[in-house]
Amino acid sequence: MFLDFFKSKGHTIEPSVSLVPVNDPTLLWINSGVATLKKYFDGSVIPENPRMTNAQKAIRTNDIENVGKTARHHTMFEMLGNFSIGDYFRAEAIEWGFELLTSPDWFDFPADKLYMTYYPDDKDSYNRWLEVGVSADHLIPIEDNFWEIGAGPSGPDTEIFFDRGESFDPENIGIKLLAEDIENDRYIEIWNIVLSQFNADPSVPRSQYKELPHKNIDTGMGLERMVAVIQGAHTNFETDLFMPIIRQIEQLSGKTYDPYGDNMSFKVIADHIRSLAFAIGDGALPGNEGRGYVLRRLLRRAVMHGRKLGINDTFLYKLVKIVGEIMQSYYPEVLEKRDFIEKIVKREEETFARTIDAGSKLFDEVVAKLKTENKTEISGNDSFKLYDTYGFPLELTKELAEDAGFTIDQNGFDVAMKAQQERARAAVVKGGSMNKQSEVLTALQDKSVFSYTENTLVTTLTAI
Ligand code: ATP
Ligand code: MG
Ligand code: MG
Ligand code: MG
Repeated sequence: MFLDFFKSKGHTIEPSVSLVPVNDPTLLWINSGVATLKKYFDGSVIPENPRMTNAQKAIRTNDIENVGKTARHHTMFEMLGNFSIGDYFRAEAIEWGFELLTSPDWFDFPADKLYMTYYPDDKDSYNRWLEVGVSADHLIPIEDNFWEIGAGPSGPDTEIFFDRGESFDPENIGIKLLAEDIENDRYIEIWNIVLSQFNADPSVPRSQYKELPHKNIDTGMGLERMVAVIQGAHTNFETDLFMPIIRQIEQLSGKTYDPYGDNMSFKVIADHIRSLAFAIGDGALPGNEGRGYVLRRLLRRAVMHGRKLGINDTFLYKLVKIVGEIMQSYYPEVLEKRDFIEKIVKREEETFARTIDAGSKLFDEVVAKLKTENKTEISGNDSFKLYDTYGFPLELTKELAEDAGFTIDQNGFDVAMKAQQERARAAVVKGGSMNKQSEVLTALQDKSVFSYTENTLVTTLTAI
């Protein structure tokens, strides 16, 4: 519907391209719809049609640790976008956005479920939302709604949130959190409209930035969040996109998925196998650096959560087929490459199984030593070594420790982790490829990606 709508407004539908960036060594993964259209935005290629729309698969490494903690972040997700390269601007972008969301011919959402945030000085967006029919008490100013990366194109953005209703927040605290730009489960960010309007000049206040001669529009809507809203699902995970995977994990583990209970392991596995299947299908392979490292980390995290559910055998590769089946109408490539993807996933699972065994051996030695010393606490250094060298998440060490009648020194672990991160960060600042990625992520107009990136990419780099 999204693509059809923008086609009816004169946009050309662009295909969803590989997650592995083509001719772009600065970017680790395609992380948004606009990332694939960079050549049009930077002017190096003139598009046949300045209006484009796409549904693009994207991977965000900055959200790895969010998966399962929030139910609205995935490592791989689809972003729907409409783009204007020096063609239409604010008036149409806002009007069409509202039409698509509320028209009975399209998504038909009640307008009173929608809240729009805007940059406080961006009175034009505020007024345009009023003109198209949004009431003033649904317009929320947020200081952070401005993207800018030093000198060059910059501008305000206006984001659309869907109110999932009282059951997500009976006391309606969420609206206060939204106004403070804090994520919450009731008001879900579904769409971001970025208005590339100014030429930023860091030497003067923003109010004095000059208008760009050619203004661009870049938007991004999260497909999985929209599906959750449209299907009335409790979260993204109880939708057609994820439930068939979760059902298979139930079969493999013999455990039951409870949407309202402790289900993080189900969510992590269901999420990570999608990224693995798609990324490997697109030609990335698990390894020790860059993209490969991200895949290795995702796979290990999923395997660990499998163990938490009591699955001790290789199992992830068995989920590739269902991922391919769910996605095949738009992404036939996963089923087409199923054999290859399964083989890679299985081999990597087997390698990791050996590492886990080595880690378990270290764990047993640590425990034996503590016993002879009459101690009951596993030191931060030991739990960090298990984490860092053997890929044991702290929660796993903690569980194993509890089973053996021991505790862990959380503080000591945090200190060791921090020291490691600082070492890694120093290395990144010296000019690794990751540094480039964070520049590109920033350049791709996403402030939140940037704010997470430093932390999480570095963690990703050092975690295994
Ligand atoms: P959030 O604040 O929820 O992390 P964001 O502001 O980082 O989202 P944008 O960069 O504005 O996200 O991306 C546009 C849209 O893509 C968001 O409005 C959201 O619907 C969706 N989206 C962003 N990150 C994810 C993710 N990790 N998983 C699923 N959907 C996402
Ligand atoms: Mg956003
Ligand atoms: Mg956001
Ligand atoms: Mg984000």
